[in-house]
Amino acid sequence: MTSSSRSARPPLNRRLAEFGTTIFAEMSALAVRTGAINLGQGFPDTDGPEEIREAAVRALRDGRGNQYPPGPGVPELRTAVAAHQQRRYGLTYDPDTEVLVTAGATEAIAAALLGLLEPGDEVIALEPYYDSYAACIAMAGGTRVPVTLRPHEQSFRLDLDELRDAVTDRTRLLLVNTPHNPTGTVLTREELTAIAELAVERDLLVVTDEVYEHLVFDEAEHLPLATLPGMRERTVTIGSAGKSFSFTGWKVGWVTSTPELVSAVRSAKQFLTYVASGPFQYAVAEALALPDTYFEEFRADMLAKRDLLASGLSDAGFEVFRTAGTYFITTDIRPLGESDGFAFCRALPERAGVVAIPNAVFYDHREAGAPFVRFAFCKRTEVLADATQRLRKAFAH
Ligand code: PMP
Ligand code: GLN
Repeated sequence: MTSSSRSARPPLNRRLAEFGTTIFAEMSALAVRTGAINLGQGFPDTDGPEEIREAAVRALRDGRGNQYPPGPGVPELRTAVAAHQQRRYGLTYDPDTEVLVTAGATEAIAAALLGLLEPGDEVIALEPYYDSYAACIAMAGGTRVPVTLRPHEQSFRLDLDELRDAVTDRTRLLLVNTPHNPTGTVLTREELTAIAELAVERDLLVVTDEVYEHLVFDEAEHLPLATLPGMRERTVTIGSAGKSFSFTGWKVGWVTSTPELVSAVRSAKQFLTYVASGPFQYAVAEALALPDTYFEEFRADMLAKRDLLASGLSDAGFEVFRTAGTYFITTDIRPLGESDGFAFCRALPERAGVVAIPNAVFYDHREAGAPFVRFAFCKRTEVLADATQRLRKAFAH
């Protein structure tokens, strides 16, 4: 091959070409470059519990997990995941055959889709969706079929008829996310029951990303899909220590499901990372056993931050959607006389010294997401106060 013929073909394959660089990397780089406050990428600016950090240090010092841990995850963590699902939701999983530890929820999503899909299978995902879903469906050779959550009374809701109409003979899997990033929607019992009934009726698998399970506010309740009738045997549930314990850099996630489904996910996972995060797995095992007070305080702290950011955004003139779960607020920028979230977010560091995420990147139907912009509130109170003051100054007149 001559060098000219080699350069004629772009190195990135067609499956991935449409995805470019993730918006999180782009916007965090913009924040660093401009010195703006980063309310874009969702990571806490303080670490999780000190005793859990110490547990990781102890594991490192004691030589636990410094060499390859077992493929499915260390037994202590698998047991802790099973105990957590039992204690919180009454779901029983065998730690040896029904729990799999992954390199964050990101790998769990990838391995589930790579392990469960045949090329050409259709996957229904709730749009807007977390960006790795589309890329992983593409890498697995699947076809994504978005069902759009629509604004309704200050939140985004699922149209159940639209969901039913999206199912075809080629549909293999429903990819659900509740609490939902980026809208902050928590699917209701009625919505989840309809999803479950559809999955049973059409014999579909369900992969459910529940990484924000501990961040639900007000009267909202997190209901794991696997608890609904007929669902445990067809549902792959995903959790993450990054979200529940504020250690996003540790990359510890997990999957719970039936032995057959876990085995399919593991078949793909073993060729992705094989294993990851050895010493951190021991620390997360301790985190999952923290008393209820930890989870209550975590939630109360985030709730206060939500209220602070929501009122600041509202004062600045944004239309603010109600966040029932997650640590994100979705806003509508049209009351500010703006309609293009991309352009708005690119200009925001200059105009206001703040970075946010344009929700359009989470849509196939980009126009449906164009006026929506997401802000993260998992930041220190003084940072949120500073950011809201900047936004008020830039926009409120
Ligand atoms: N799913 C959702 C909905 C998320 O928001 C995130 C992002 N943090 C992930 C999965 C990835 O989680 P992890 O950092 O554990 O890979
Ligand atoms: N889940 C985080 C968010 O939605 C970002 C994770 C990432 O950067 N991949 O902001």
